[in-house]
Amino acid sequence: MKAKNQPPKYLKAKIGKHLEIGHGLPPVIQTMCNTHTSDVAATVAQCLELAAAGAQMVRITVPGLGDIPALKEIRDRLRAADCEVPLVADIHFSSATAFEAAKIVEKVRINPGNFHPDHDTARREFARFLEVCREHGTAVRVGLNHGSLGKYITDLYGNTPEAMALAAMEWLEMCIDAEFFNVVVSLKASNTVVMVQAYRELVRRMQERGYVFPLHLGVTEAGNGEQGRIKSCIGIASLLREGIGDTLRVSLTEPPVAELPVAAYLAARYGGTPMPGLPQEEEHILRAACDWGPALLNREIDEIPESAGLDEHLKDEIMQGARRRFYRPEYIACPGCGRTMYDLQGSFEQVKARTDHLKGMVIAVMGCIVNGPGEMADADWGYVGEGGGKVSIYRKGEPVLRHVPDSEAIDRLLELIEKG
Ligand code: SF4
Repeated sequence: MKAKNQPPKYLKAKIGKHLEIGHGLPPVIQTMCNTHTSDVAATVAQCLELAAAGAQMVRITVPGLGDIPALKEIRDRLRAADCEVPLVADIHFSSATAFEAAKIVEKVRINPGNFHPDHDTARREFARFLEVCREHGTAVRVGLNHGSLGKYITDLYGNTPEAMALAAMEWLEMCIDAEFFNVVVSLKASNTVVMVQAYRELVRRMQERGYVFPLHLGVTEAGNGEQGRIKSCIGIASLLREGIGDTLRVSLTEPPVAELPVAAYLAARYGGTPMPGLPQEEEHILRAACDWGPALLNREIDEIPESAGLDEHLKDEIMQGARRRFYRPEYIACPGCGRTMYDLQGSFEQVKARTDHLKGMVIAVMGCIVNGPGEMADADWGYVGEGGGKVSIYRKGEPVLRHVPDSEAIDRLLELIEKG
């Protein structure tokens, strides 16, 4: 514990040779490839596209040890093309894969709790992982999401913002003990209220502990179009305007390059970076979401005033993004990544079109069977791509139909919803 009256230490993370993230620095914007990592040419092309469009970091999924040679090849081809954008490996469930990725890329994102089902073993693996990262100068993101908290923590504290912050503090405590400070932490949720409360609680606990690690902000599974943009802006702006947040990703179920102007708008508005040129309509939506969403979410106001000059539809969307009034279903959809094995963007559009009358229902459309079911914590119904032309349908987190052919899956989902 820090000495009494001692101010907390605000830490910075160094990502590669040139990029720093942390207190007092402008927010860094990042995104993630949705190509298959094993398709080296496509992933290199997308990294180049994203770096050229302003991404300051690019994340790539690394599903297993078999993808490590491709990761190395991707890095080598980018560097040979004079592209120095730092790469972040996204790893789930496999500590062995995380150890190898840490030797190749500038940063590795993990959820340490899923390194192993046995919590003590996960802790031991995380301690070993920090030593590999120390040796190779690799930064770490401790990335916990609402819905993927370990059972040990939800049994004690429920699936709450406090539980998210406590779970993160356990891993940060291990970093402090190991004197490993090259760490960024995230606590994403699809529910903007949960997300904002979790980050605030984490900041409070880090300040109390005396070490404030840089924060990666994001509203996970925000969906697409204006709904995804509004929801992302409300969650991220609520924190940035309080001085919370050092790097951000706007997750949209769209090509990843579309995320960058939204992220750049947020970084410019709250961090003083150059304002991106945006189409007038998009700029209008983002500005309105940032002007009114945080005040609604914080319950500083109950309605958007007439004087704002917004049309009713935009007001409805902002009210829903701030979770103050629901006028349509609430959609949760992941952005997709190298684990996605089906037409996620097209399926999401079809699900939206067929379910838009189900006001108040929470419907998730997720890109993979590995992480999708765990991530759709709030959903009444889930539509999860298995790959191989098959879909699983979930109700309240439990699978009710598996291996449904793609072509029939939306009909089956609607039948189940009608049965109730
Ligand atoms: S849930 Fe979506 S974004 Fe997350 S790992 Fe699966 S496909 Fe990728």
